[in-house]
Amino acid sequence: MRLDIPTLAMVTVFVTALLGGLLVFAGLQNRAVRALMTWGGAFLLCALGVALVAVRGMVPDWISIQFANVAVLIGLGLVWVGARQFDGRETRVAMVAVAPLIWIAACAVPDIRADINLRTVTVTTLSGLVAFAAAYEVWRGRSEPLMSRWPTAITLFVYGAIMIARAPVTLMVPQPAGEYQFTASVFYPLLSFATLLFSVVIAFLLLNMTKERTELRHKTAALVDPLTGVPNRRAFLAGAEQMAADPRADGTALAVMLFDLDHFKSINDRLGHAAGDAVLMNFAATAVRSFGDGVLFGRIGGEEFGAIMRVSNLGEALAIAEQVRRAFAVTDLAGDIVPTVSIGVALENETTMTLAALMAAADRALYRAKAKGRNRVASAMTSEDGASIASADGVLERREWRKLPATA
Ligand code: GH3
Ligand code: MG
Ligand code: MG
Repeated sequence: MRLDIPTLAMVTVFVTALLGGLLVFAGLQNRAVRALMTWGGAFLLCALGVALVAVRGMVPDWISIQFANVAVLIGLGLVWVGARQFDGRETRVAMVAVAPLIWIAACAVPDIRADINLRTVTVTTLSGLVAFAAAYEVWRGRSEPLMSRWPTAITLFVYGAIMIARAPVTLMVPQPAGEYQFTASVFYPLLSFATLLFSVVIAFLLLNMTKERTELRHKTAALVDPLTGVPNRRAFLAGAEQMAADPRADGTALAVMLFDLDHFKSINDRLGHAAGDAVLMNFAATAVRSFGDGVLFGRIGGEEFGAIMRVSNLGEALAIAEQVRRAFAVTDLAGDIVPTVSIGVALENETTMTLAALMAAADRALYRAKAKGRNRVASAMTSEDGASIASADGVLERREWRKLPATA
């Protein structure tokens, strides 16, 4: 099959321009993502460049050769700059300008300007290097879990590799000199076709990356407590359900901890709400630092937090809780106030199996920690406290210990 060159060139130009228009449109809708506009501009410039190459012979050479390739190289530079903007990295005009300037400088050399093969080598190498830079930039942000990031980086890399590979091929199989042979070579339809495919794939992937990021942000916002940055109540409870449903490794049991800051209302009253917020943030940060991997920690509401983890025995859970309590108690605030935390710990056993039962047991333990004077860890399982657990269970509900005087 012989591809009809002018048709192919025209399709490439229109499709690339259309995709550029769609990216600009997406950028207008989502102004927070500046990269979309940049990528839109990139596609429009590449479309212009391909269009000018295609009309070689019909327009002056400096337009179809020098200027057309400047447009393509700026376009590729904008793909790179857009990738940096997408991940919040700083951008410089030089990133867009360097490849076109090298190209213009090369064209000033008469031997290069007159030789289509040397020009091809120059442009194709520059294009490949800029595409590599864009691929690297997308790859660098891989810690953000966007599904489309990998195919985007790979597609840009493959595009760059094809461009770079074209340089030695051009030198080994030079195109015959003469009037406007370029579009007649076997490479042109292949190159044009490849450009068309890459345009479609990359535009799709770039739009998808943006969409995935928006979805990820919404999901995160729905599951993360904005003040402390830890999982919110919904996320904590869902994660806890998941951990409770997972099979336990041999010799481990689930431990639940409930944390309630002591006299928090008086911190708010005496130092103001902002200081109270700072204490909450500080507590969350302290707890996160104290816990290792595998601990789910979240803000259940107000000044109450929860943690769930697998431990080998109650002693281990109590030690972990004690570590958090101690680490927090040394962080003193303005003046005479040292915020402290009371912690209730419950370990699953034959009678306390469900998550709800574990949470209730931890809550009872927390009540006892408060009643015993605060700034301490209490468990729902130590036998010495068996009697008081039993009496507390029946007599006092959580709602009631909240109403106890602060000095109780
Ligand atoms: P106890 O030692 O018995 O736990 O006493 P407490 O004062 O900590 O208990 P209480 O439940 O009466 O007070 C909790 C306070 O936490 C009341 C509420 O105004 C405050 N609070 C809840 N959420 C926030 C928040 O996001 N920021 C601030 N600054 N305060 C909050
Ligand atoms: Mg409370
Ligand atoms: Mg409290």
